[in-house]
Amino acid sequence: MTSTSVFVSGASGFIAQELVKQLIKKGYNVVGTVRSTEKGESLKSNLKDAGLASENFEFEIVKDIAVKGAFDEALEKHPEVTVFLHTASPFHFNVTDIEKELLIPAVEGTKNALTAIKAHGPQIKKVVVTSSYAAIGSFLEYSDPSKTRTEDDWNVATYEQSKANAIHGYLGSKKYAELAAWDFVKEEKPNFTLSTVNPVYVFGPQAFEIKDKSQLNTSSELINGVLKLKPTDTVTNELTGYFIDVRDVAHAHIVAFEKKEAEGKRLLLAESPFSTQSILKQIREDFPQLREELPKGDPAEAEYWKKTESPIDNQKTKDILGFKFIDFKKSVDDSVAQIIA
Ligand code: NAP
Repeated sequence: MTSTSVFVSGASGFIAQELVKQLIKKGYNVVGTVRSTEKGESLKSNLKDAGLASENFEFEIVKDIAVKGAFDEALEKHPEVTVFLHTASPFHFNVTDIEKELLIPAVEGTKNALTAIKAHGPQIKKVVVTSSYAAIGSFLEYSDPSKTRTEDDWNVATYEQSKANAIHGYLGSKKYAELAAWDFVKEEKPNFTLSTVNPVYVFGPQAFEIKDKSQLNTSSELINGVLKLKPTDTVTNELTGYFIDVRDVAHAHIVAFEKKEAEGKRLLLAESPFSTQSILKQIREDFPQLREELPKGDPAEAEYWKKTESPIDNQKTKDILGFKFIDFKKSVDDSVAQIIA
């Protein structure tokens, strides 16, 4: 057991809830930031209902990470914190002003977190920023299946190109937020080491029971969206990508601050590629009771990702993490089982 106190920004998020759950299970004390008392109380009671040490979880309200000084007060109140995990960032495409609603909160939120740590948390030694494969890989019209992507690559989109639409806006938000973090460390030479976690699309079950199944977080909605299809719906292959399970993403954040080898590293989390057809195929195979309710799709197109996705080589990350990732079948099956329960 340990008495280390870990700060988690955006604690009510899909990835962060699993992260808080794993941290509490490992005996850490957690200070999470949420945007409302209701979200903080709900997380605390979910931990309690799961039989976990909810008394080791406290929350502070940070309504908007983009506001200057957003984290100052929360950090001043918690001089016991020695690890800071920055997960909060907008991940949705429901925006009218791309710069204001995606790029600025991601970039300024990261700068505000790091500035607050330097000024109000000099005892903090480890910082992990949740970045994304969006900051690494090529996407959409920049996609190139002939080029392998590794931890050393950067998304080629410029800040201006990122304003083209909401999807580009999200990709740019992650690239420019991560760049801001590395620049901060280079220029400010703070007391802490930085690591980033760069996941591809994150699937897998929610940390706690789902209360509203109508709309899940953006990445989980890719599976939920397939479950909402009608037998007569056409399944297109517009969306392909790589997946990683949320339980591995949370675990990687913990290894990122626990293991010295992760200091100064970008951890590229990817297990295997998928397409909408491959999600449908997996569900039809493993949930025979749903077959009549879903379209047949085109199983021959399940590997459509070969035409669109760059191969990923994340061996360096795997060597640092030292654990095996959950596979596509288990991740999809566990996600679906929880949604239809
Ligand atoms: P999520 O469930 O939408 O979580 C995002 C969290 O950030 C929520 O707690 C949200 O609070 C908070 N947040 C967003 N904008 C904020 C603001 N302006 N002020 C304060 N809090 C704000 O999404 P997620 O999938 O868990 O994503 C968590 C992190 O992982 C993000 O940095 C995301 O870019 C990254 N990531 C996710 C994936 C994926 O596939 N899921 C892949 C790669 C990277 P509210 O819920 O209260 O709005």
